[in-house]
This record gives sequence, structure tokens and C-alpha cells, in this order.
Amino acid sequence: MRKIIFATKNGGKFREVKKLFDSTDIELISLNDFDNIPDIDENGNTFIENATIKAMEIYKLFKRPVIADDSGLSVEALNGAPGVVSARYAGKDASDKENNYKLLKELEKFEEPYKAKFICASVYYNGKELISACGEMHGKIIKEASGGNGFGYDPLFVPNGYDLTNGELELSEKNKISHRAKAFNKLIKKII
Ligand code: IMP
Repeated sequence: MRKIIFATKNGGKFREVKKLFDSTDIELISLNDFDNIPDIDENGNTFIENATIKAMEIYKLFKRPVIADDSGLSVEALNGAPGVVSARYAGKDASDKENNYKLLKELEKFEEPYKAKFICASVYYNGKELISACGEMHGKIIKEASGGNGFGYDPLFVPNGYDLTNGELELSEKNKISHRAKAFNKLIKKII
């Protein structure tokens, strides 16, 4: 098995991506398996910039192949917000609940449906090559949170073609249609 570090401390994200690598000869290692990992300043203006920053910073620490992603929600009525600040929309260290609350507050003045999409940029870096792939999932934001699966904005997001929120979908179902699955499935093809 080839071991690759996945530059995330987010357990929900790690579970999703690990499943996508099940059918490969690659074993993913989470940053939670290491001590004293510094917080990385995701100060890029795009998802791809941020994913690249994460992969390169973690490569510098371990000198081992790394994959990283950066992802977020883009809401049409909000001109693409929360975008690259999705994880900290309601402030630094905001919880998912606080971010979801802020999103619904911002949307109050607009008419439904709230068209939205999740975007994911994934990258692989081994010190020499930088390989990337992106994916999107389109849908809408609803006013009532529902479902305990997934993470982040999942309880508020209904993908196109579904009556359930991402929070209500089983992981195996979300992994068939998600922005992250699309991005990483493309990336996997490029690196195996
Ligand atoms: P990242 O860890 O910098 O990629 O931050 C992504 C943020 O975007 C997360 O903290 C969530 O708020 C949001 N996000 C990204 N992907 C998803 C998803 O699949 N479901 C729900 N929220 C997501």
C-alpha cells in the first residue's frame, strides 16, 4: 500500500475521502494521527490556491506525498458567499451551527429558492509534481435544518434531483454526487 497524508483534521471530510480511496492501493493518513500540527493560514483567494497552500505546508513538515482539498458553499443570491470563508463565515472558530444560522439570516431578505453549489478543489503534491482536480454539486439551501449526517452546511443543502438534505443522505449516497467525490475521483485517476 502507498501511504499518502490527507491534510485535514476534519473527521467528517476524512471519512468521506477515505471511502473514495477504498478501491485503490493508497492508504490515507489523517493529520489527527500526528501531534503538534500547526494551523495553516488559508489565505488564498480561491479554493485551488488554498488547497495548494495546505498540501505544500504539510509536505514541508513530513516530506511525504500529500493530498489536500479546499471546499465551500457558494450561494447565488449572496454573490457566491460564503465561498472560501465557508468554514469561518460566522467568525474565526465558528461552529457549523453558527455558520448555518448566519447563512439563514443573510438569506432572509431574499426569495426562495436559494440556488447554491458546493465546490471542491483537490490537489496532490509530492515535492515535485502538483496535480489538481475540481468538482461541484448543485442544489438549494432550505430554511429548516434536517439530518445528522455529514458536516458543515449539509443539513441545509438539498442536492438537485433529491428531496433529502445532504444531512439526511447516507454517506454512500452523498459520495455518489458530492463535489468532493467528483474532485477526488478525478484526482485518483491522475495519481494511480
Ligand atoms: P475547508 O475545510 O477549508 O475545505 O472548509 C470547508 C468548509 O466548507 C466546511 O467547514 C463547511 O462549512 C463547508 N463545506 C465544504 N464541504 C462541505 C460538505 O460536503 N458539506 C457541508 N459543508 C461543506
